[in-house]
Amino acid sequence: MSQKNIPYKTYLEESEMPRQWYNVRADMKNKPAPLLNPATLKPVAFEDLRPVFCDELIKQELDDTTPYFDIPEEIIEFYKMYRPSPLVRAYFLEKYLDTPAKIYYKFEGNNTSGSHKLNSAIAQAYYAKKQGLKGVTTETGAGQWGTALSMACAYFGLDCEVYMVKCSYEQKPFRREVMRTYGANVTPSPSDKTAVGRKILEQFPGTSGSLGCAISEAVEAATAKEGYRYVLGSVLNQVLLHQSVIGLETKTALDKLGEKADIVIGCAGGGSNLGGLISPFMGEKLRGEADYRIIAVEPASCPSLTRGKFVYDFCDTGNVCPLAKMYTLGNGFIPSANHAGGLRYHGMSTVVSQLYDDKLMEAVSVEQTEVFEAATKFARVEGILPAPESSHAIKVAVNEALKCKETGEEKTIVFGLTGTGYFDMVAYQKFNDGQMSDYIPTDEDLEKGFATIPNIF
Ligand SMILES: *Cc1c(COP(=O)(O)O)cnc(C)c1O
Repeated sequence: MSQKNIPYKTYLEESEMPRQWYNVRADMKNKPAPLLNPATLKPVAFEDLRPVFCDELIKQELDDTTPYFDIPEEIIEFYKMYRPSPLVRAYFLEKYLDTPAKIYYKFEGNNTSGSHKLNSAIAQAYYAKKQGLKGVTTETGAGQWGTALSMACAYFGLDCEVYMVKCSYEQKPFRREVMRTYGANVTPSPSDKTAVGRKILEQFPGTSGSLGCAISEAVEAATAKEGYRYVLGSVLNQVLLHQSVIGLETKTALDKLGEKADIVIGCAGGGSNLGGLISPFMGEKLRGEADYRIIAVEPASCPSLTRGKFVYDFCDTGNVCPLAKMYTLGNGFIPSANHAGGLRYHGMSTVVSQLYDDKLMEAVSVEQTEVFEAATKFARVEGILPAPESSHAIKVAVNEALKCKETGEEKTIVFGLTGTGYFDMVAYQKFNDGQMSDYIPTDEDLEKGFATIPNIF
């Protein structure tokens, strides 16, 4: 198939798995702006975050200078259940596109949670256990994060309380049952278990909930109970740090194959898989050792990088969490219905935001229907049924490969295939029935979201 006889799948040996996470902030000249305490508008300090997050995770969150963190042995042991993950040479997709480009994807869907989120869930559960906590609380929208966290908590014997956005709770009963099977306590949000939930129910009886509301409930539940902390599945620096295993493995595998990436592509919701995948490549770029084109892909319905503002905003709709300087559509922005639930966040990781603002990477937005067209083609030629989120990266990888076909360039394209789409069959059904819509927010729609950004900078 290829001159170099590159295998379809490259697996590293267990002994070649990374032993340290890489913190790309250490190599950034312009550091991401600090989180601000909403009460004082001063940068958050360790003590501010202690009631909400685990101590060790706060240290990781606030550390902009240490380049490498040792991965604890217990986490490496768990990683071995589903890592190293394969780097796949997409020969069949290349053939189908008739492109001279070489396409690789790093597949993170090979675990029961079906996505990369387990990489950080297990780390966060480990530090909670080590601190002697009883349990953790979190929110979940589409359900991937809640599933990953319940697996991680089951492993370490921690209690896991998941506030699941009510409409997902009702629409995705199978996701909910996976979480319950792993021992999690799943509550539809808003609920009457928390003060904030009761207040919302009183104001908006019959509401189907939102991620912002579920976050507020999960934070309240964690701070109200002795021995509990809140954990988050994306956006935060610590999550990007844990997700660096994706990029480190990818880089090692490419080096072994004697390949050099020209373009690295990832989908961007809160920025964690993208931040993790690109980190070692971005590190080389920041240190002036190599150059790469790095592309973030987001849905046209929730275009935080391509149409958002780079300002301080609340991380949650309830405005209880710290403020972050990030590309944002406004904490009150409500994206139109889009089936890539994991990409419907109003903001973006501060690391990714800063790198993008410094023009070290690009961002593009794509529409839902073209994403599902790419997803379906990919499923038919490469076998894997991709998650709608991951399919955003597929779409742009395909676009870049087709450009190579025009120019005859033999570029090497690497993208992150973050997960599988088995729980997204309602979305595929809509697509198959020709009933999928592509609502792109107008400038007026965006203005309504921008109006919810606090007036700070
Ligand atoms: C959550 C999720 C994403 C988006 O989250 P990021 O933090 O931006 O990586 C992408 N793909 C899948 C499969 C997900 O579950």
